[in-house]
Amino acid sequence: MKPRGPVMEEERVPYTMFVATDLIDADPETLNSYFAHMPAYRARVRTLDWGQAKAAAEGIGEIGCHTRTHARLSQISGDPARLTDEIAGARAIIERHVGQTCDSFAWPYGTASDIDAAGRAAIADAGFTSNFSAVRGAVQPGTTDVMNIPRHQLEFHWPLHELMVWARGFREP
Ligand SMILES: [Zn+2]
Repeated sequence: MKPRGPVMEEERVPYTMFVATDLIDADPETLNSYFAHMPAYRARVRTLDWGQAKAAAEGIGEIGCHTRTHARLSQISGDPARLTDEIAGARAIIERHVGQTCDSFAWPYGTASDIDAAGRAAIADAGFTSNFSAVRGAVQPGTTDVMNIPRHQLEFHWPLHELMVWARGFREP
């Protein structure tokens, strides 16, 4: 698959790629086992390598944090060491490879039931200055909580008309 970074550079569209660090450079076997329950992705997704991530960050892109293993944080919120490794640990890995500060975090899955106090505290403690959920909605300047920013989930295999529905604000509060 052709990297999309250059297109965003040409069009001058700022973007953030949220990466799960253990899946960067992952071999096809690891990816297939990760996507075992998501057949639409199997054998179709290839991940970035660190060189591509660094190049994006040196251009118009930003590399954000999406944990190490794409963990569902609400399932590990009783395990502070694991939570810290997934959040602060992933941030340190990104900064080491990319050579820039990693300020933005996005919850894996990120539905309302995935977001809890332990996760929120671990994300703030790790030093992130913005945090994206996957709860749909519009950003309201001045009122949106920067540590709980709404985000529209779009999937590559969805038809264009479906993307247009979400892009027009369907189901936004
Ligand atoms: Zn995700």
